[in-house]
Amino acid sequence: MLHTLNAPQQAAVRYLDGPCLVLAGAGSGKTRVITQKIVYLIERAGMDARNIAAITFTNKAAREMQERVGALTDPARLRGLTVSTFHSLGMRLLREEARHLGYKPQFSILDAADAGKIISDLLATTDKALVRATVSHISLLKNDRVAPEQALLRADSDGELHLARIYRAYQDTLLAYQAVDFDDLIRLPVDLFESNEEVLKKWQQRLRYLLIDEYQDTNTTQYQMVKMLTDLSGQFTAVGDDDQSIYAWRGANMENLRLLQTDFPKLKVIKLEQNYRSVARILKCANAVIANNPKLFEKTLWSDLGVGDPIQIIEAKNEEHEAELICMKLQAHKFEAGTGFKDYAILYRSNFQARVIETALRTQRIPYVISGGQSFFDRAEIKDLLAYLRLVANENDDPAFIRAVTTPKRGVGNVTLERLGSYASERHVSLFAAVFEEGFIHQVQPQQYEPLKTFATFINQLQYRARSEPAGALLQDLLAIIDYETWLYDNDEPRPAETKWKNVQDFVGWVAKQGQEKGKDLIEITQTIALITMLEGREDEEVDAVKLTTLHASKGLEYPHVFLIGCEEDILPHANSIEGNMVEEERRLMYVGITRAQRTLTITYCGKRRRAGEWQITHPSRFLHELPPEDIRVSGRLAGGKSEPLVTKQEGRAMLAGLMAKLG
Ligand code: ATP
Ligand code: MG
Repeated sequence: MLHTLNAPQQAAVRYLDGPCLVLAGAGSGKTRVITQKIVYLIERAGMDARNIAAITFTNKAAREMQERVGALTDPARLRGLTVSTFHSLGMRLLREEARHLGYKPQFSILDAADAGKIISDLLATTDKALVRATVSHISLLKNDRVAPEQALLRADSDGELHLARIYRAYQDTLLAYQAVDFDDLIRLPVDLFESNEEVLKKWQQRLRYLLIDEYQDTNTTQYQMVKMLTDLSGQFTAVGDDDQSIYAWRGANMENLRLLQTDFPKLKVIKLEQNYRSVARILKCANAVIANNPKLFEKTLWSDLGVGDPIQIIEAKNEEHEAELICMKLQAHKFEAGTGFKDYAILYRSNFQARVIETALRTQRIPYVISGGQSFFDRAEIKDLLAYLRLVANENDDPAFIRAVTTPKRGVGNVTLERLGSYASERHVSLFAAVFEEGFIHQVQPQQYEPLKTFATFINQLQYRARSEPAGALLQDLLAIIDYETWLYDNDEPRPAETKWKNVQDFVGWVAKQGQEKGKDLIEITQTIALITMLEGREDEEVDAVKLTTLHASKGLEYPHVFLIGCEEDILPHANSIEGNMVEEERRLMYVGITRAQRTLTITYCGKRRRAGEWQITHPSRFLHELPPEDIRVSGRLAGGKSEPLVTKQEGRAMLAGLMAKLG
């Protein structure tokens, strides 16, 4: 089984004498080491799959890994294997140990929008920038494991004191709602491990071997989780690449790579040098760009997959032109090379860049799937239904209560809701509980009270039914009872309403499937959805379509042909990072982008771009000047005098031939 690995990869797989770190550049087979090591642990080392946990960065990566491992060994031997993200592992821990932390296992998981709403209430402001800054400040504190009390003690200015108080109030609110945010999913289990030795021992016994992919992007809390879980034995393998650390803005801490060496003096470090993904020229470009960053660890990368074509760098007139050129080049290349649409990926720095490309792809009838953009579960219509599910799972979830009771409108007025809100906060009970309290009932007129009571009773009935009925059927019924379809059409134009209704039906189908195939109950399904975060959309089926994705979401993935678009100053590197002195992180992002490509890479940028309705001249990204001139083919300003044609004769011919073929 190890014959598909090179010597250092094999060494990493075989090494079981203590902690092991594989430190290597992109495409060198780090993820492959993890997959193979799981199988090795089970088949050769005789470990029970139940005692192994592999941690990846996204749900998608986790699914892929599960599949790959499944293909390598008898699936029966994999029963109980954990392959998940840090967040879903944390969720599992929390569900089992909730009571130690004052939570019920049915706790809700709040998304960024809910968290923002709570903060904006606490700050008594609608200033979005202020709210966002506060949310991310709190998030960074959490990821550095600073508790509210510590933040209060540390504060040495009025501003910090105020922030620390908001942080504490926010935490109190979450507990009252029986809700956690994303950061808590990791922070709370670590807190618990620290304070409760018995629980820690139990999990150390259960998860005896850890494997961690994309280690460079772990934050302090995640690192502590790893450390605590493996403290006794140091039985883990981490793989990572410091040059691909791109999540500093979410608290990822590259220092963790160095910390491993200090905390585990016996750490075995293995380096991989052969790249199995990209042709030499692509690799050379990637190496040349990243060479401009200070080096943390010495690494070399080579490949024997052939030299490959020069990297094409193209200046388009503007965004529309850029999108057109990409469609043209893609179709010409596809016709000539006989590839499928799925062999192409279009990568960009920021989500807004996808819109123009999408329009062009649709016009050209090129199938595409978009990932890493707005998640399916982030759509308003889905969040409406989720509010119901969350409330059924956890009646203390006030944000869900507010959304559900007002969608659709059921004659509950704002004044009544405000009164309910102040009553509930005086009495320290949830909105839901307040509905049934005598004290509140006396405060409102019977005709105001009636719809509230009907609503709460309805939720009660659903809770009762959820114990025995499958989630899909229950949701279907709920939709009929609240007549959500009519509400959608009443509140929107027919076309968007139709799309939304279709999304709703897709969602019902998905929930039903989760219930039937994976045996999940409503609470589990609701919590799982919360975890499918900004990082990715829904599971995309294997279809023959061009992939559109942000650079961040492309991490760990590979595509035969890559278009990297919008390589301009202020986009890549991003304007904020230029101001904030974060260009090195942007360069790593560029490195990640380049190293996704296996065979060809096309980089585009625009000569001008519309900003807030006005045309602005743009400048090619500084990273383009860092590419080795002998490996690129340039058209446009960057080329100086010797610009290549935008579309080569060969491409022109291929396009024409493709068109003829289509016409039959
Ligand atoms: P990244 O840093 O982008 O996450 P990685 O180091 O995890 O990359 P992998 O995704 O594991 O790299 O491997 C890159 C490609 O090389 C994959 O297609 C993988 O199947 C292939 N590969 C890895 N090792 C070998 C090997 N020894 N022989 C042949 N192919 C290999
Ligand atoms: Mg990888």
